[in-house]
Amino acid sequence: NADAAMYHAKEQGRNNLQYFTSALNAAAAERLTLERELRIAVEERQFELHYQPQYAAGADPRERPCGVEALVRWRHPQKGLVPPVRFIPVAEETGLIGVIGDWVLDCACRDFAAWKAAGIAPRRVAVNLSAHQLRNPALVDNVGAVLARHGLRQGELELEITESVAMSDPAGAIEKLQALRALGVDLAIDDFGTGYSSLVYLKRLPIQVLKLDREFVRDIESDANDAAISVATLTLAHSLGLQVVAEGVETEAQRDFLVSHGCDMLQGYLLGRPEPAAVLEQRWRAQD
Ligand code: C2E
Ligand code: MG
Ligand code: MG
Ligand code: MG
Repeated sequence: NADAAMYHAKEQGRNNLQYFTSALNAAAAERLTLERELRIAVEERQFELHYQPQYAAGADPRERPCGVEALVRWRHPQKGLVPPVRFIPVAEETGLIGVIGDWVLDCACRDFAAWKAAGIAPRRVAVNLSAHQLRNPALVDNVGAVLARHGLRQGELELEITESVAMSDPAGAIEKLQALRALGVDLAIDDFGTGYSSLVYLKRLPIQVLKLDREFVRDIESDANDAAISVATLTLAHSLGLQVVAEGVETEAQRDFLVSHGCDMLQGYLLGRPEPAAVLEQRWRAQD
């Protein structure tokens, strides 16, 4: 009867609510644990950098790469190596990315200086900048101090920013990026094509490099749209005087497509995975 049906529905509603409440509680608790552990990680410096090679199109991947991109990992005492997707967003929300980002920049420049001293350095090292870092008024001074501390010269440090970060405050970003350029830093737009880009602003940004997102590279030979977007990006970039680095190159077919359409640089598992500095150093020494 109706009463029984009503009672049943109410009970079910209560159960659903209970289910959702405990799921929410679990998510909130997990998030709090992550935040607490991340603070400890910052204090105890539980981070390490891995470097992924970038090769000029047509270069031999058995040789020393043209550049490397620094990618941060968290060496969690129990969970092992935690990838950036799992902690960068929380680091960004809590502002902890400020300290982490400073450490990344310093460590990448210190490693690069050591490679130079050993005569095994690639031409440049690329470091990712977060939205939070780009908003920091001290950014330009920080970068200048790190370059001076480790003796990096013009063109040896490249900073990568995503297009949405650059476009969220185009006027402010342009000014900061110009100041960074004046320090001799090269600038790249990361994950190009995934954000919303105004071509007008793209032209006004003082950048040298576009990184074509992995999203378009993945199905570049089978998906006509991805191929068209990639080719159009290459044409656009080149007509603006920019170099293009393709991300996520995993197969020879992807590489051949990109190279035949004039892509300047390649990055991806086909050419090399991100690896600790010590592993790369050993290989580069052996190559000499
Ligand atoms: P990103 O800057 O676009 O870096 C490229 C990502 O693609 C890296 O993931 C790299 O390991 C991965 N990758 C490279 N080649 C291939 C491939 O052939 N196939 C596939 N499936 N993946 C490939 P990772 O290291 O997990 O980093 C993810 C993102 O985390 C980065 O994307 C970047 O946005 C962010 N990130 C990493 N390190 C830092 C950092 O020091 N600071 C900041 N702010 N963000 C960072
Ligand atoms: Mg990047
Ligand atoms: Mg990228
Ligand atoms: Mg990407």
